[in-house]
Amino acid sequence: MATDSFKVRTGSAPAWTAFFAALLVVAPAIVPVASGSDSPGAQLRRIAVLTADVQDGRIGMVDEAVSFWNGSATGLGLGAAFADAEFVTPPKGLRPFENYAHQLSQLAGRLHSSAPGPEPPEALFAVEAEVVVLLSAQNLMPFAWPYGEDGRYFVAVPAGDAPENVVRNVIAHELGHVLGLKHLREPGVLMCQPCDTSRALSEGQPRFLPLTEADHERLRIFLGGTPP
Ligand SMILES: [Zn+2]
Repeated sequence: MATDSFKVRTGSAPAWTAFFAALLVVAPAIVPVASGSDSPGAQLRRIAVLTADVQDGRIGMVDEAVSFWNGSATGLGLGAAFADAEFVTPPKGLRPFENYAHQLSQLAGRLHSSAPGPEPPEALFAVEAEVVVLLSAQNLMPFAWPYGEDGRYFVAVPAGDAPENVVRNVIAHELGHVLGLKHLREPGVLMCQPCDTSRALSEGQPRFLPLTEADHERLRIFLGGTPP
């Protein structure tokens, strides 16, 4: 059964070694949760962060990624995209979320978001947020996966010993999918697929890989309601 199927993190980091190479390809229809043009800022996407450890260093990186996206959106004259992330403790624990993340991660690269995929757990629907970010205890493949019928996303961030800038950019990359962004065949940009981040991410300073004009255009459509 699924309850014993997920592996706990190990010392090695096979998922991180692959980095973005096998991220789930998520290319949903553009279904904005909020229409920014008519009601700027009125409907910020809520982000619920799930982790077993309140000291988890990835929590701060989610906040940084949220700031990055809100700064990028407002810099384009669009409303902010996300509300401040909130730490959430599900009443029945993280197991259903970890199991679901494991299932999706195992299917990475083989499942398109138009396919039904595994059934999301009830616990996921119970979280009152448009974006549920699991800071997983597993060394799995990161992804952003749509669920439900109103533009919600389940995002999984792997455990492991990847450099902080890699983790930071993985989180921002996945939140980019939430905002309707797609993969670009430019190895050094945030929405890269495949990616070559070795040089950009070897720096000690926190930084995000750049967005492109194509990203800006998609953000304008998604957040600003500009017709394609
Ligand atoms: Zn991706």
